[in-house]
Amino acid sequence: MTPMVVVLSSPSGGGKTSITQRLVAQRADCGYSISATTRAARPGEQNGVAYYFLAPDEFERRVQAGDFAEHAVYNGHRYGTLTSELVRVMHGGQHVLLDIEVVGARQVRARFPDAVLVFIVPPSGAVLAERLRGRRTEAAGVIAGRLQQAIDELGAAVEYDYVVVNDEVGMAVAAVNAILDAESRRTSRQRDFAVVLDRLRAEVAAELLRASPAK
Ligand code: 5GP
Repeated sequence: MTPMVVVLSSPSGGGKTSITQRLVAQRADCGYSISATTRAARPGEQNGVAYYFLAPDEFERRVQAGDFAEHAVYNGHRYGTLTSELVRVMHGGQHVLLDIEVVGARQVRARFPDAVLVFIVPPSGAVLAERLRGRRTEAAGVIAGRLQQAIDELGAAVEYDYVVVNDEVGMAVAAVNAILDAESRRTSRQRDFAVVLDRLRAEVAAELLRASPAK
């Protein structure tokens, strides 16, 4: 199989992180790209697992060194996908899942035109607001900011290849699974397609010989 670059975006509270985690847990053919960020680690987040937590000057040094496949600013913090992460996962023979925001997703599209971009949307504004309130880690002002941001981010959904409504997370994961399975079967993504076809044609030709009445 030919490893794919798969982007999952959604407004904050849209559910892309839990969908991404489930996909990686369920599918041996998918790996997660661990992003770098300048934001502080939240409780329970480990360096090198949730993110690579970098100081701002280190992040900038790596931007200048050309280490990022894409990077963007979100809520005043820098986030980026290290090219080394894409290489790590894809060389392991897996599709690489990127949980990133829309500005970075556009950069991925420009750099990897074959990438599959999936936008996850909440079923309603009320559900989105409820999910944000349920996080408890977010203050009221932060929630208002996230809702405003969601309005902007939802406007970018049309730029994506697929939109999945995350009403129930299991159903949303099933939808993304279907997308990945269909995309991986594109003839253009099957590197050994020509070889398989040649073999098949030779086999059919042999059958034809066998089926033809002897002269
Ligand atoms: P959080 O700080 O809540 O983990 O993430 C905030 C936003 O940054 C989310 O929309 C998340 O998808 C996005 N994000 C995480 N990693 C990256 C990255 O490497 N690049 C970009 N462009 N966005 C990212």
